[in-house]
Amino acid sequence: MSERGLVLVVEDEKPISDLLRLYLSREGFGVHTEFDGPGGLTAARTKHPVAIILDVGLPGMDGTEVCRQLRAEDNWVPVIFCTARDDEVDRVLGLELGADDYVTKPFSPREVVARVKSLVRRSGIAHRDSRPISVGDVTVDTTQRRVFLGEEEVSLTATEFDLLAHLVAEPGRVFSRDQLLAEVWGYAAVVGTRTVDVHVAQLRSKLGDASPIRTVRGVGYAAEVPRHG
Ligand code: CA
Repeated sequence: MSERGLVLVVEDEKPISDLLRLYLSREGFGVHTEFDGPGGLTAARTKHPVAIILDVGLPGMDGTEVCRQLRAEDNWVPVIFCTARDDEVDRVLGLELGADDYVTKPFSPREVVARVKSLVRRSGIAHRDSRPISVGDVTVDTTQRRVFLGEEEVSLTATEFDLLAHLVAEPGRVFSRDQLLAEVWGYAAVVGTRTVDVHVAQLRSKLGDASPIRTVRGVGYAAEVPRHG
């Protein structure tokens, strides 16, 4: 077995899939490939991947549907979508599927692997010795990587969690979108900064009125300062 865990690649274009396998295995990841939607869904459920690279246009079942089903089953494995066209990017972002990231074809395999590494590293980081942070009804437990709304746990993707934790770690500090991309995602924006907006929108829809994230017009985002007592 591989030292870094298994990455599931679901991609029906064999040359792309082969290239990803080559680059990922060079970096120490194990790679399992599937070529259609149903196969990808089954492998995601049974192989326990540390991340999934998921093509949108797949035979049998669309990549977006695969992701939707996983999230519906409370499976929050990091997902990076591969999109063939800009309109697919819009679809992936608009559907609020709980994707962690996306790349547009043609992509450099090096770039995809860098993103997988960043995502896997982030999703595995538990911040030791840090006490849960509460803002209103929302509690962020960075040691266990869990978020609660009142007593109820809220299921978040790795990226949603990291974005929220990053904001509430420094309440009141205003972050620009570029800063958030650099500090949370770990790389500069390739397709613009709207991915930040989409993840903020997803957090807000999950946390509702209790969301501690406030928009700072013309600048970016900040978390509310926690109230004590
Ligand atoms: Ca395809």
